[in-house]
Amino acid sequence: MNVFNRLDAALAFAPEEAALLESVSKLARERIAPKAADLDRTGGFPHQNVSEINALGLNAMFIPEAYGGAQMSYAVYLECVRALSKACASTGIVWATNFHAIKPLIDFGTEEQKKRLLPVMAEGGLASLTITEPAAGSDATGMKTEFRPDGDSILVNGGKTFITNGAHADLYMLFGKWSEIADSKGAISVLVLEKGTPGLAVVREEDKMGLRASSTATLAFDNCRVPRANLLGKPGDGLKILLASLNKSRPSVAAHALGIARAAFEDSIAYINERKQSGRKIVEFQGIQFMLADMATDLAMCEAWLAHVARMVDGGATDFGVEASMLKMRASDLAMRIATDAVQLHGGYGYCKDYRVERLMRDAKITQIWEGTNQIHRQLIGRSFIRK
Ligand SMILES: Cc1cc2nc3c(=O)[nH]c(=O)nc-3n(C[C@H](O)[C@H](O)[C@H](O)COP(=O)(O)OP(=O)(O)OC[C@H]3O[C@@H](n4cnc5c(N)ncnc54)[C@H](O)[C@@H]3O)c2cc1C
Repeated sequence: MNVFNRLDAALAFAPEEAALLESVSKLARERIAPKAADLDRTGGFPHQNVSEINALGLNAMFIPEAYGGAQMSYAVYLECVRALSKACASTGIVWATNFHAIKPLIDFGTEEQKKRLLPVMAEGGLASLTITEPAAGSDATGMKTEFRPDGDSILVNGGKTFITNGAHADLYMLFGKWSEIADSKGAISVLVLEKGTPGLAVVREEDKMGLRASSTATLAFDNCRVPRANLLGKPGDGLKILLASLNKSRPSVAAHALGIARAAFEDSIAYINERKQSGRKIVEFQGIQFMLADMATDLAMCEAWLAHVARMVDGGATDFGVEASMLKMRASDLAMRIATDAVQLHGGYGYCKDYRVERLMRDAKITQIWEGTNQIHRQLIGRSFIRK
């Protein structure tokens, strides 16, 4: 048993959670991983993987029983993200985005909204967290999408870009600005836009460096009429809801990054224990061992921090934004470094598509950019130490 087996074994899950994790690992290993290279090549959406994930009822794990779910701990959710992302980072983020998008409804929705909308997700729906606009990325408060009240409806006009699951979602957790509130940040509001709403259009899907099988869409809203009953909280509650939601999705994107990192690390170990040069296995060279020591140690520390943040959330903590930022920043920087080192350890073969590390390096890059770029996270972490 090596250090990573012991780290995995130290994660304590309830028996039903452990059983589900076993099923997810098997699905990831036997069904999802073998299709990942082909999905990367074609860029096709992983519909079959989504069906197989839904056959296990995985969305239900983050939806309370009262609304058709079978809620489990945040720790087990993060482990599922890690396992799926290790097998196929595109599929991992397609599924994790359901959680990111629907968590605000679970935490801030009314009883009526939850009864009406959550079963869509419990039954295997797809969702999008819909924030970014062409001119409002790192500073999301610069968004321009307008919510104009009109009797029992809200008219939505504007557009969003880079929306994961955007071309396939059943529900869009959509952020925009309330037309009747003058204050720019105070106007941010959030509503659920349902698939098929007239005026909603998918304008384009990005042709990306990595995560090529995930959909990243530009959306347009042309007088979309949304029932007022789909507004979360009150007009102007959006920024509060956005910040609370990001705290829960950042550990999840860290778990995604750590899935990629673990895959790159394991592939490297397997390769350098086989490949020989100068009559010795690559792993026997001291220069390589120094690289491995750094990769393994940083990976172990980061995985342990993921488990720490999961315990905080499951323990009911609400003030964990800095911990979540540290985790997102370090996990994503590490995924990029380990994936790059993995290519290096494979030599010229690592640069070619026959080996998975080539894809992992491309998949890893986005983890440093989304859910707050790592520059933004460094700012958030540093700023938290300013004495008031
Ligand atoms: C594949 C993919 C999937 C995505 N999925 C979603 C999604 O599902 N939903 C969604 O809403 N968005 C999504 N995004 C958008 C993503 O969150 C943004 O791309 C990200 O927030 C950065 O915004 P930007 O691209 O406009 O870059 P910019 O904000 O223009 O940043 C450009 C550069 O400037 C730096 N910078 C900006 N401001 C500062 C600052 N104050 N201090 C220091 N440096 C700064 C950034 O770190 C970056 O290096 C996705 C993007 C991609 C590429």
